[in-house]
Amino acid sequence: MMDYLNYIGGKWTESKSRETYKHYNPANPSECFGTTVVATVEEVDSAVIHAKQAFLQWKQLSPVTRGEFLRKAADLLEQQTEEIAKIATKEMGKRFVEMKGEVARAAMILRYFAQEGMRKMGELLPSVNPQNTLYSLRVPLGVVSVITPWNFPVAIPIWKIAPALVYGNTVVWKPAQESGITAVKIAEVFERAGLPEGVLNLVMGSGATVGNALVEHPNTAAVTFTGSNQVGREIASKAVAQNKKFQLELGGKNPAVVLADADLDLAAKLTIEGAMKQTGQRCTATSRVYVEQSIYDTFVDKLLTEVKQIKVGDGLDETVNMGPVASKNQFDTVSSYIAKGVEEGAQLLFGGQCLEGPTFNGGYFIEPTIFGQVTNEMTIAREEIFGPVLAVVKVADYSEALAKANDTMYGLSASLFTTSLDKAFHFIENSEVGMVQINGETGGAEPQAPFGGMKESSSGTREQGQAAVEFFTAYKTVSITS
Ligand code: NAD
Repeated sequence: MMDYLNYIGGKWTESKSRETYKHYNPANPSECFGTTVVATVEEVDSAVIHAKQAFLQWKQLSPVTRGEFLRKAADLLEQQTEEIAKIATKEMGKRFVEMKGEVARAAMILRYFAQEGMRKMGELLPSVNPQNTLYSLRVPLGVVSVITPWNFPVAIPIWKIAPALVYGNTVVWKPAQESGITAVKIAEVFERAGLPEGVLNLVMGSGATVGNALVEHPNTAAVTFTGSNQVGREIASKAVAQNKKFQLELGGKNPAVVLADADLDLAAKLTIEGAMKQTGQRCTATSRVYVEQSIYDTFVDKLLTEVKQIKVGDGLDETVNMGPVASKNQFDTVSSYIAKGVEEGAQLLFGGQCLEGPTFNGGYFIEPTIFGQVTNEMTIAREEIFGPVLAVVKVADYSEALAKANDTMYGLSASLFTTSLDKAFHFIENSEVGMVQINGETGGAEPQAPFGGMKESSSGTREQGQAAVEFFTAYKTVSITS
């Protein structure tokens, strides 16, 4: 079986470490379908040096020209949708249909940022001196480190790489090891799109060694990171120490609030979708639902009707609605949260079991799980589980629901189901999150809209849409006196 290689300075490069990472299918862990190389710290250094050299020419190109590379990459990515989606499904279990949707979204993001290359890159400002021409320019930062998780192995890297490149930066990218082969396929797409050598470099390996070497490298100007809070905090403190720009997209504990006046069928359907889509492994997954007491029993019945329709199995099977969790590590973590829910006295309403037997091939399958009578003090209502587990909390009214929904260190996404416009606007204003949905499931938004959270879910600057320019460029103020 061939090793998938790092991509440094426009060349597919073996690693001197001789170490490799084996990729197992979480739906069938006896199947090893590929190995990726593990970069050394010296190879990370080489990638940064190549990116630094490439920056000198890349930043001279017109943003319109840089955008053309992205447009070409979008076309090529689309042509390879099935191949890339299948690899990603095998790497981390996400259903093939969901993965195809993710690839389509990534192509849309590439086209969006290609177009950004034709938008204004500064502003003309009035000056007190009529002889003065005063304006601001948006200029690239230099080499940007891109560090990504496994759960959106195509869209998240693309929504960082595309703006980084179109605004004139060069990139060294370290993907999660779990999704390394998918990352190689994405780098191949950019290579085939004709990106000049050194503009995008791929280095694979562990976070502790390769990721850390990239964060600490003195020649990178900025780091954009999506992943866990713990790692995010470490990266932030290192970036601050080196006066580097940083952008963090971290965890979530996203609440939905269901009021008595809501369309309860819609609310139940979207709460289950929000909780179980991608086996609950989304930073924006619905993790808690606050339900007014007058409709609690009715709503729980509706949740159960919805969840019973979920068929669990290998994500390559298009009749399946929920795949395995991504790895043994994920399996153990999610299982321990389910055990904790039972131990702390929540009422197990559905699921809670690992799925075994010949149909499941020893894969990391967990039933979609719903707990009722949860209180905000319980661990399953406080910590990010990152698995198919929903906590249902009974509340007296909207005010209690809002207070409890906000009672968390996270602030990524929240949704409210209601027909009251007053409550909807109150929730939009008072829920402490970056992305609010009214009568929709918790989640992000289309590629043209800003993505990100408040509190400990994000560092502040947003991804996607025109907000991305804030992170990937610096201002230069120019004054010309004639
Ligand atoms: P993780 O933090 O373990 O890893 C993310 C990336 O960081 C990987 O590439 C990893 O190798 C690297 N890394 C690990 N330690 C590092 C270090 N010391 N220095 C530099 N890099 C290091 O996260 P994960 O398990 O891959 O992803 C799941 C987490 O990501 C969840 O908490 C989830 O909520 C979060 N997430 C957030 C968003 C968002 O947009 N807010 C989106 C997706 C996932």
